[in-house]
Amino acid sequence: METAEIVRRFLGFFEKKGHTVVPSASLIAEDPTLLLVPAGMVPFKPYFLGQRTPSYDTATSVQKCIRTKDIEEVGKTSRHATFFQMLGNFSFGDYFKERAIPLAWELVTSPVEEGGFGIDPERLWVTVYLDDDEAERIWREDVGVDPERIQRMGKEENYWDMGVPGPCGPCSEIFYDRGPEYGVEGGPAADENRYIEIWNLVFMQYERGEGSGKDYPILGELPKKNIDTGMGLERLAAVLQGVDNIYETDIIGRVLHRAAELTGSVYGDDHERDVMLRVVADHVRSAVMLVGDGVKPGNEKAGYVLRRILRRSIRNLRLLSGTDAFFLHDLTAVSIDAMKDIYPDLLDKADVVHGVIDTEERNFADTLRAGTTLFGRAAERTRAQGGTVFSGADAFQLHDTYGFPIDLTLEMAAEQGLSVDETAFRELMQRQRDTAKADAKAKKLGNADISLYAGLHENAGDTDFLGYSDTESESSVR
Ligand code: ATP
Ligand code: MG
Ligand code: MG
Ligand code: MG
Repeated sequence: METAEIVRRFLGFFEKKGHTVVPSASLIAEDPTLLLVPAGMVPFKPYFLGQRTPSYDTATSVQKCIRTKDIEEVGKTSRHATFFQMLGNFSFGDYFKERAIPLAWELVTSPVEEGGFGIDPERLWVTVYLDDDEAERIWREDVGVDPERIQRMGKEENYWDMGVPGPCGPCSEIFYDRGPEYGVEGGPAADENRYIEIWNLVFMQYERGEGSGKDYPILGELPKKNIDTGMGLERLAAVLQGVDNIYETDIIGRVLHRAAELTGSVYGDDHERDVMLRVVADHVRSAVMLVGDGVKPGNEKAGYVLRRILRRSIRNLRLLSGTDAFFLHDLTAVSIDAMKDIYPDLLDKADVVHGVIDTEERNFADTLRAGTTLFGRAAERTRAQGGTVFSGADAFQLHDTYGFPIDLTLEMAAEQGLSVDETAFRELMQRQRDTAKADAKAKKLGNADISLYAGLHENAGDTDFLGYSDTESESSVR
């Protein structure tokens, strides 16, 4: 089943069950505590928090999501993308577990001819939270799941909250068994690669108080209980298309195969190259979607997320092809073409998307040309002295003079079997920041009319080049 058809079926199913279809919000989160939207419930957060009242009691959506914290997993696991889409149904004080669970089961298991996804129930496992007997009973008695395929999971896996006082509650997840060739028996508790998580049902049941992490008091039951569910569209597509991983599904797969063609690779021949091809396919698509939503490459926040994934794709393409040829224009066109059925607006934005991505590719080529020589010399010097640690001073110079993001230096060093003295690097960065701040302060001292000088100061170009300072140490999504 094609990805576009999965979307139609999902929304159609919940619409028929009385849900209002809500279009995806932009990837750029309205929520000031987030940079980019990491889950389908984000646009509905004010409703769950009781800050606003929706005009509907139940809703369904396919939300565009970005999870930068999963970036290192991309291509290595079968199931983590940076950009993905979350299929969801939501209840705002309307139905609760007794309906959410049977609805999910009906949709995934009912035959394709009847509008469902036709997954064999024998292949499905479910998890419930440790003390959630109610959910377990519904799965067992109302739905008829074999008790042997129901597992209890702890707080880390199956308890949901928003990180702040407010609603919280247990989750219940549906997993698909890919078969013995993917790992050991024993359900999701035993092997999360063989048993792939497809759908998370969140039951907002309680009100929580202050606390850190998962350690907080439960203040009581919520007067109005809510449902928030999220199913990964790409994961469901991988299951329904019978492919090994999400990068080989109809949409991402097109970019993957084109990247293989362009770089003279045979996908499936070599594990390391396969991972790089998957990274390229994933990242190009994420870049297209980010630019489509108005993000521009930059050194901070969402702009830095975009820059990082674009630069990572370029680096991988260079390693794969052994050339410094430009491939992104071609791959961007393929990605837009693959996504246009679900996002027809991408066609209108194609020129802008190409313009932004092409420019970043050219700029990065210049950066790389200049910095790679310096990097090579420093790496050689390190080795000649019998060292295995690339110095923080060299990493800093690469950053300061050539705009090399630290993760690029880390990656290039790792390829040569070197580590990087990151502590020293950070200290130098901090020192530069402090100096810049002190300078700025000194210049303002004694000047009554600060605004006048502030302008001059900027034009003179001596404002602090803080570069990637604020975002590179952590993933940029909080
Ligand atoms: P996992 O344990 O596999 O990392 P998760 O528990 O972090 O997934 P949830 O936060 O429960 O995921 O999100 C709901 C659903 O969204 C998941 O069940 C999965 O189908 C999908 N999903 C989550 N993260 C990703 C990702 N990085 N790429 C693709 N789909 C994802
Ligand atoms: Mg995860
Ligand atoms: Mg999980
Ligand atoms: Mg989950």
